[in-house]
Amino acid sequence: MATKRDYYEVLGLPRHAAPEEIKKAYRQTALKFHPDRNPEADAEEKFKEASEAYQVLSDPDKRARYDRYGHQAPGGFDFTDFSFMHLDDLFSDIFGEFFGSRPRGPRRRRGSDLRYDLTLSFLEAARGTEKTVVVPRHVPCEECRGSGAKPGTSPLTCPTCRGAGQLRYQQGFFSVSRTCSHCQGKGTVIQTPCATCRGHGLKEVKRKLKVKIPAGVDNGAALRLRGEGEIGEMGGPDGDLHVVLTVKPHPIFERQGTELILDLPISFPQAALGDEVEVPTLDGPAKLKIPAGTQTGKVFRLRGKGMPELQGYGQGDLHVRVFVEVPSKLSKEQKDLLQRFAEISGEDISPQRKSFLDKVKDLLNQN
Ligand SMILES: [Zn+2]
Ligand SMILES: [Zn+2]
Repeated sequence: MATKRDYYEVLGLPRHAAPEEIKKAYRQTALKFHPDRNPEADAEEKFKEASEAYQVLSDPDKRARYDRYGHQAPGGFDFTDFSFMHLDDLFSDIFGEFFGSRPRGPRRRRGSDLRYDLTLSFLEAARGTEKTVVVPRHVPCEECRGSGAKPGTSPLTCPTCRGAGQLRYQQGFFSVSRTCSHCQGKGTVIQTPCATCRGHGLKEVKRKLKVKIPAGVDNGAALRLRGEGEIGEMGGPDGDLHVVLTVKPHPIFERQGTELILDLPISFPQAALGDEVEVPTLDGPAKLKIPAGTQTGKVFRLRGKGMPELQGYGQGDLHVRVFVEVPSKLSKEQKDLLQRFAEISGEDISPQRKSFLDKVKDLLNQN
């Protein structure tokens, strides 16, 4: 005990400090070191030290004894009889306005979030849409007005927590509270349950909600509808509804973000001679010029024909990837014509193949 710091020093006060100054100094010190707010290892010790100093200096009788005898006052200062109520009063007095969130009654609880899975067609995602969804959520039972007690009876004040919903107990020099397990923090218990809701106080209702889907949403995107989840308890805020989107794939468009890819088959004559073809886009058919001598894998870009940017003004592109389809069934006449075509073409028929064979020849000669 010899190492105890002077109580005035602990609170940073002059010896003639007025009661208001003592209170103010303690409030500042306690707020600084309150274990709920300060994670430092020695915060709890400092908080206790300040609480102890305040206990003595705020009591005129104890303060007078301390001023006269210091820590060695006859009989000392017994902190163990520092009763529950004292501490509770201290907290409400000192911390009431600071710890406004420190619940004094039954605990407010935010309602749970709900999830709704919604499937959209590819075009709905591209254009945006409005969907009506039916979401079940729990609302107070009308029969018992949400109390859970049979009409004509009322819930009883919980005998364990006396209606506070929480139990406070002393741990060292500060008090700790936890939710009352007897009433689950409600502060009341039901003796005769309501027959309609079986005492839950809630019933399920299906609600129709309109959900606006912006153009450009992608698979896996989630929309949050604030306050459309489960209802909060004891006046707590309502939860949110999360609408999780699944976008169905398109039979011909492949999507990569805002870009669309389309594989377009063209015939050998179209590729060789060139042509103008019609390509499907999200806005309807568009014309695409195939230049003569187009090879498989060639990509043509149609600007602004992709998906809209979500929350943007832009639009992706449509990439048309052509492939030359080799006919697999030929008539006698077609075969003869192709044969003839090959004969008159000689090696000119496939310059790329020729250059490839030349490269292979070079490689073999090197070895
Ligand atoms: Zn209780
Ligand atoms: Zn009911």
